[in-house]
Amino acid sequence: MIVGGGIWGLSTAYHLARAGWTDVQVLERNGTLFDETTSQAAGLVGQIRATPLMRRAIRYAIDLFLDFESETGHDPGFRQVGSLLLAQNPERMVSFEEHVEHANGSGVEASFVDDAEMSTLAPHLDVSQVEGGYFVPEDGYLDPRRCARAFCCAAEDLGVRIRTGTAATGLSIMDGRVMRVETDDGFVEAENVVVTAGPWTGTLAEMAGHRTAMVPIRHQRVTTVPVSGIPDHHPVVRVTDASCYLRPEEGGYLYGFFEPDPTSYDLELPAGFHTADIEEPVQIMEEASERLAPVFPVLRNLEISAYKRGLTTFAPDGAYLIGPVPQVEGLFAATGCAALGIAGSAAVGSWLAGWIARGDPGEDLSSLGLERFGEQASDRGWVRRESEAFYGGYYGIPAMSVT
Ligand SMILES: Cc1cc2nc3c(=O)[nH]c(=O)nc-3n(C[C@H](O)[C@H](O)[C@H](O)COP(=O)(O)OP(=O)(O)OC[C@H]3O[C@@H](n4cnc5c(N)ncnc54)[C@H](O)[C@@H]3O)c2cc1C
Repeated sequence: MIVGGGIWGLSTAYHLARAGWTDVQVLERNGTLFDETTSQAAGLVGQIRATPLMRRAIRYAIDLFLDFESETGHDPGFRQVGSLLLAQNPERMVSFEEHVEHANGSGVEASFVDDAEMSTLAPHLDVSQVEGGYFVPEDGYLDPRRCARAFCCAAEDLGVRIRTGTAATGLSIMDGRVMRVETDDGFVEAENVVVTAGPWTGTLAEMAGHRTAMVPIRHQRVTTVPVSGIPDHHPVVRVTDASCYLRPEEGGYLYGFFEPDPTSYDLELPAGFHTADIEEPVQIMEEASERLAPVFPVLRNLEISAYKRGLTTFAPDGAYLIGPVPQVEGLFAATGCAALGIAGSAAVGSWLAGWIARGDPGEDLSSLGLERFGEQASDRGWVRRESEAFYGGYYGIPAMSVT
């Protein structure tokens, strides 16, 4: 039984079914799937990561997404347009040199580009405002809804059952083993239960006596009205010194912002809370626009056509929280997406399915374990402070956690 029909739950269902575990049910409280965090995402898929584990995770995603349609008949909508990372000061350029060296040394193609190449890649960019940049050709982006739907359809083709409109309300645990999931429509027996409930994962894990070291933190992005001059193969652009990213969307631009002073929510989010309850982040996106406008002056003249926002989940060290829930056999949880849950969804599904089907996620995931903070996880003030600090410094130097 998988609790939560966002992209993590659906990828897990797909990977379980692919491993031959077809007696799988996905339980989603809403009437429709992937309508909370997943539907809000920008869908960036970037390989410049802080750890080899996460570089491998994103590489796995890219390979899976490229072959997904031919293997399953369902298109995840991946666009391999590359990503362009921009520096606006010499200090950032020094860190970029490390990025490029590190990337090439670990099999990720990345190279510096000159002003002319940057202009060709991103014609609205004012190159006089940047110190330099590098290009990662195998990165890209996808439509998160399309990707989640592709996982869902591929899983259903293999026999997975999807149950929407039913919320998990409790977990029955006997002699240290999960026995069944309590729902608002009766009990469901389950040998294994995977909680992939996004920002609500802490609330559900608490029902099993586990305090998750994770904070839901609001993240936001907008789409502009269409504008001429955006080439079909426009890459994802990360203006790291502005803490912003940008890519094409519906003929205009989509851009998002990691503000230095983020807004966080209850660590155990109320069950009745929905993404739609979060106010439109108009003011915060005005700040993003001001930060981006020197580099992309065209944004000054483009109206916003859509505001998106949701609760990304952060652990104090910014790494995923994933694995068996301590002291409860058969219960697994995955959260702490660090605004990287679309790109990481493929690996997360593969790891969880490996754990359940073979007792082995296929990687040493001790650095992502639910227990790694020990007693400190009970210090909720510490968890909140550290997690917010990680979010606020997302594009910091020398951090390489670039979504
Ligand atoms: C503005 C924004 C931009 C982003 N951009 C990117 C990006 O560019 N790249 C990237 O990789 N990531 C990005 N992310 C992060 C990404 O969206 C998340 O990491 C990802 O969607 C997490 O998926 P999930 O399945 O864990 O959570 P969710 O999508 O939130 O799914 C959890 C599901 O569980 C259900 N649920 C909750 N409680 C219960 C219950 N009791 N019973 C049954 N069901 C329940 C919910 O209804 C929900 O459908 C972005 C996020 C935001 C908000």
